[in-house]
Amino acid sequence: MPPGSGSPHLVLVGGGHAHLYTLRRLRVLIGRGIAVTLVTPDRFHYYSGMGPGMLGGRYRPEDIRIDVQSLAEGGGARCVVAPAERINSQARRLHLADGTTLSYDALSLNIGSIVADNPLPSDCIVPVKPIANLVAARERLLAVARSKPPHVLVVGGGAAGVEIAGNVRRLLRDRGDITLVASSPILHRFPPRAREVVLNALAESRIETVEGVSVKGWMDGGAVLSDGRTVAWDLALVATGVKPPALLGECGLPLAPDGSLLVDRFLRSTGSPAVFGGGDCITLAEQPLPRVGVYAVRQGPILFHNLQAQLTGKRLLPFNPQRSFLQLLNLGDDTALLVRNGIVWRGRLAFRLKDFIDRRFVESFAGKMSGAAG
Ligand SMILES: Cc1cc2nc3c(=O)[nH]c(=O)nc-3n(C[C@H](O)[C@H](O)[C@H](O)COP(=O)(O)OP(=O)(O)OC[C@H]3O[C@@H](n4cnc5c(N)ncnc54)[C@H](O)[C@@H]3O)c2cc1C
Repeated sequence: MPPGSGSPHLVLVGGGHAHLYTLRRLRVLIGRGIAVTLVTPDRFHYYSGMGPGMLGGRYRPEDIRIDVQSLAEGGGARCVVAPAERINSQARRLHLADGTTLSYDALSLNIGSIVADNPLPSDCIVPVKPIANLVAARERLLAVARSKPPHVLVVGGGAAGVEIAGNVRRLLRDRGDITLVASSPILHRFPPRAREVVLNALAESRIETVEGVSVKGWMDGGAVLSDGRTVAWDLALVATGVKPPALLGECGLPLAPDGSLLVDRFLRSTGSPAVFGGGDCITLAEQPLPRVGVYAVRQGPILFHNLQAQLTGKRLLPFNPQRSFLQLLNLGDDTALLVRNGIVWRGRLAFRLKDFIDRRFVESFAGKMSGAAG
């Protein structure tokens, strides 16, 4: 409970995709006598599905972000803008970077993930998570492009690396050169036809692809590859998969081998009934899932129900993940790649579908600060 109040205290850590559902329905929780605090490092949450499009200039930064502070405060919760730094699960306390300590009756973690294999942080070597990094990367690229055609290195051949490379090309138009380096075949987790289509799209956009090679060393303006080659860059964007944030490391709760919070089918920590989580920072003990926003969003309603149920003594609901999901990759050239259940299709209509879905999602949170229950 918050000191001096008789209400059970729910602390939401991170205003990510899995908490947005709850943030929009805070009045329901507060109406049931639950005090809620949101802890977030930034008042805005950036929607990853539109991040590459923002880098390429299709969207403005303000088009792709959700004001989670306003959602929280408009719904009657308290919002503390500071990153969570340490969880003491025994004492049920959360310590924040600004020195604040919060006691909780229930804690829900939706803190996302960070880029794996991130080299030394520098203004010119940019990890693609947090997505807000792409705002500064865009400014930097435009600044370089004013004086010369930029060399851009994209590291990582998964969906994020492909979208980033395509959208750098959109930003630079016909200037500069872009190299995409991937330690595995590009899109190796996708059907072979998707890979073929994307390799063609990258070639059409004059993006050089180097597969089966990793970056072995960084120097000022250059990267040494595992095959001995050196690639020059003015800006490097790193999209080498994700790993859980450090916050979970010393929380004293059971973790999956990759360091994410291990949860049962109720999205509850396998080590504490007071701790729940959703999105990239958890692993379902029974069924590990790919780290995609689709699952984080689908976990939202279950978290909303189970957090209330935990605090009011009701029955928890299980999260039953869907077997397959629609994948839409923005290739930066007004087309998208659509992949679902063996169907692979690239086209402008696929991009329009992605644009419609993404805009509708973000716009659904604009002006929704009163916490309607719908
Ligand atoms: C370039 C790119 C494009 C992508 N495109 C898609 C796509 O089109 N579709 C798709 O399904 N998936 C996509 N993904 C994957 C997707 O980004 C993740 O699966 C998704 O963001 C997971 O949602 P999340 O809520 O767990 O984490 P996030 O979206 O990362 O949100 C986590 C939140 O936690 C907050 N936070 C972080 N640390 C702390 C802390 N210490 N204390 C408090 N708060 C904290 C952050 O501010 C953030 O708001 C993409 C990924 C990348 C990198």
